[in-house]
Amino acid sequence: MALIVHKYGGTSMGSTERIRNVAKRVAKWARAGHQIVVVPSAMSGETNRLLGLAKELAPAKPGDAYSRELDMLASTGEQASSALLAIALQSEGQPSVSYAGWQVAIKTNSAFTKARIESIDDARVMGDLNAGKVVIITGFQGVDDNGNITTLGRGGSDTSAVAVAAALKADECLIYTDVDGVYTTDPRVVPEARRLQTVSFEEMLEMASMGSKVLQIRSVEFAGKYKVPMRVLSSFTPWDIDINEEAASGTLITFEEDEQMEQAVVSGIAFNRDEAKISVLGVPDKPGIAYQILGAVADANIEVDVIIQNLSKDGKTDFSFTVHRNDYAKTIDLLKEKVLPALGAAEVAGDAKICKVSIVGIGMRSHVGVASKMFRSLSEEGINIQMISTSEIKTSVVIDEKYMELAVRALHKAFDLDQA
Ligand code: ASP
Ligand code: MG
Repeated sequence: MALIVHKYGGTSMGSTERIRNVAKRVAKWARAGHQIVVVPSAMSGETNRLLGLAKELAPAKPGDAYSRELDMLASTGEQASSALLAIALQSEGQPSVSYAGWQVAIKTNSAFTKARIESIDDARVMGDLNAGKVVIITGFQGVDDNGNITTLGRGGSDTSAVAVAAALKADECLIYTDVDGVYTTDPRVVPEARRLQTVSFEEMLEMASMGSKVLQIRSVEFAGKYKVPMRVLSSFTPWDIDINEEAASGTLITFEEDEQMEQAVVSGIAFNRDEAKISVLGVPDKPGIAYQILGAVADANIEVDVIIQNLSKDGKTDFSFTVHRNDYAKTIDLLKEKVLPALGAAEVAGDAKICKVSIVGIGMRSHVGVASKMFRSLSEEGINIQMISTSEIKTSVVIDEKYMELAVRALHKAFDLDQA
């Protein structure tokens, strides 16, 4: 007997028919003798629908009074799907009970719409599990110290599931979703992309932060911190497939590097089009300029990613960095109005038509020449690299957006990811 947390995404919960399917699958696991906790998302589209209603009444406003109500509102999506699943399970003859976050309780801080989980009380849930019930806990939400309902940010039910698994010391957290695992890259860009049997937690973290939408990044951080064994698998297999086959399907997120002695050097290619490049040209090269430019950007709550500073010539240098595309115009305005005059810099230039392509692999730690292989492969395709950034287990390049697919395909091939 094991204690297992199942998480089902919005698509998997998207209709009463699909909820019935989830119930049959969960009941199968319970009949096999396991204690099961389920963390569902809202039915697909529901969170957007609810937040859209709020927007119709009043445009999004910063400030706690409005955000508090958004959480009050959005949390109902998961409350509905959880109750429906409990009803479906009961109709399968499986005793089941659902709880909203505050009933467990899942305690969070008070940062409405992006709250962080602080603690989870396991007493009520363990009591029900020991009484033979399947326990369903709403994803995406919690309660703050003042009894206000909070939500964890879009995609937050992944994080709820992992946090619940950590609190209950579950044997495994199974993330059921509409894809059958984590791939070497997006199969829509590279049809030869393969599903990875395993991916290390650190690689998953890099991939999640660079555009792979499979898991909310915070859930991966949580899994890493509490060493929660986690697997991503499909909820679209027939519910009655052999349970052992199901348990071994998808992609397992591992923590033991040496389990994978034959680990490929590069495990995956990540990419995103969400960034834009900004250059401040003709900056006097003296101490403090990085702080003057990036400090102002950070003070405006804008996140910066890749940064480069050119060699200086005649006491002047150029300074470039990337920001999220949504922050592009705001950053340029800020620089023009506040930073350029103070710096005495000549001008600011920007390019929103860029993308970032990254190779990721823990194997890069113990192999030299991986980055140069990446650069060679891009040069063979005639792709100009505009910026580079590296970490122990990844190398990212910023290139013209129009070459993104070509670059991803070339790298996928160069690092033999097409081959099993
Ligand atoms: N329903 C929430 C959302 O759409 C949480 C989730 O699905 O993970 O963001
Ligand atoms: Mg999701």
